[in-house]
Amino acid sequence: MIKKFLKRVFRKPAKTKSVGNAQVIPFKLHGVAREQISYGALKVTDGLQAAGYQACVVGGAVRDLLLDRTPKDFDIATDATPEEVRRVFRRARIIGRRFRLVHVMFGEEVVEVSTFRRMIEVEDAQTDEHGRLLRDNEFGDQEQDAARRDFTANALFYDPTTQEIYDYHGGYADTRDHLLRIIGDPLVRYREDPVRMLRAVRLSAKLGIKLDAATAAPVAEMKDLLDNVPQARLLDEVLKMLLSGHSLECIQQLRKMNLHHGLLPLLDVIWEQPMGEKFIMLALRNTDERLSQDKTVSPAFLFAALLWHEVLAAWNLRVQQGKRPVGAMHEAMDEVLARQRAQLAIPHRQDAVMKEIWLMQQRFEQRAGQRPFRLLEQPRFRAGFDFLLLRCASGELDDELGLWWDEFQDASAERQTEMLQPEEASEKKRRRRKPRRKPEIPALDESAVDEPVA
Ligand code: ATP
Ligand code: MG
Repeated sequence: MIKKFLKRVFRKPAKTKSVGNAQVIPFKLHGVAREQISYGALKVTDGLQAAGYQACVVGGAVRDLLLDRTPKDFDIATDATPEEVRRVFRRARIIGRRFRLVHVMFGEEVVEVSTFRRMIEVEDAQTDEHGRLLRDNEFGDQEQDAARRDFTANALFYDPTTQEIYDYHGGYADTRDHLLRIIGDPLVRYREDPVRMLRAVRLSAKLGIKLDAATAAPVAEMKDLLDNVPQARLLDEVLKMLLSGHSLECIQQLRKMNLHHGLLPLLDVIWEQPMGEKFIMLALRNTDERLSQDKTVSPAFLFAALLWHEVLAAWNLRVQQGKRPVGAMHEAMDEVLARQRAQLAIPHRQDAVMKEIWLMQQRFEQRAGQRPFRLLEQPRFRAGFDFLLLRCASGELDDELGLWWDEFQDASAERQTEMLQPEEASEKKRRRRKPRRKPEIPALDESAVDEPVA
């Protein structure tokens, strides 16, 4: 142990050099080769450097490569302005109004190029009354660009030409030590942008690395700052967590840090119902597994799962008050969605699919006559059925119902007829007395289909 430590201490000065305030880490030490960079990213750095500009791979990609992970995408940082970048490449367009970035296209690959930016000094920064940074889009140099980034591991610049890493904040050592550390004073950095607290949770869970103690410590006292973050941004970050492939760890970490309050407010209630908690944990595990197998996951399915036990509670209440089940379900769904929406802006376009999944749950119980066949024809039967299986696995329903549908959907016509349950006498009577009504399940907007996100 001591030998290893001494070796590292004595080896370091021999191999890294300082350029200005940066430590420059050579290929020999970090081992990230030019060949590990994507085709498009290399084209962009080579093109910009040939035109006389600085250009490096930056952010998550460098971090992921150091951790032996495959980067999602490669972002480039440069001292060229967006207009100058556009002039160098044939297929490039400037996007964003406040933060102007350039997208350079190489077939399927889109490389995002951002000009070095700097943080505005406190005296001329336009912060809101809580200290949130509202202006950070002034151009700067590489060192300033490093300082405005969130974590040391995210502020490394890799030059594919020299294969060197420029490190201004000790991010190389932190990444090697599997440590996620915020740059600068955590209090100031969280006040500037409270979403960094959520990013800390997500990135440490996703990368399996530890949050540095000083980075984690102030979160407890600063978490209320999340109330001032625009809803759309919160939703974006919550979705990133849920779809990170490590949603279970993220949620557990959020709870440990007491950050889940106010984020998904209805979850607070659910944690107190053992059945609800089990259901959510299963849903998240299921999502993580699907993502690890490169299957698609729909945000609507996830939100439907997260809110299910609230819907169930609201529905039960109404049924006990003597309301008809389907009508009670419609009221319950609307109530839960409205309550949730007051805190977290689940987009309305998800509603149709969520409601369809919830409404199908009642129909799974009906296994007589033509009804099971009609349910099988539902375009989103598969999502409804997966949801049913989660309910069985969580202990809310008897496994028998899930097994029945599992067999029924693929059975031969004869077997299906055999499997049908007899119509209940009372049900038959009710049917005979009343003229046949239109189906109670509303037609759903087919444009609101699942959005595969992974
Ligand atoms: P992922 O693998 O999830 O994409 P990432 O670190 O690349 O992780 P992005 O959201 O793509 O995350 O951000 C790209 C880079 O921009 C980050 O690595 C970081 O340097 C910087 N960044 C992103 N969000 C913030 C923030 N809220 N404050 C400061 N810097 C940020
Ligand atoms: Mg990224």
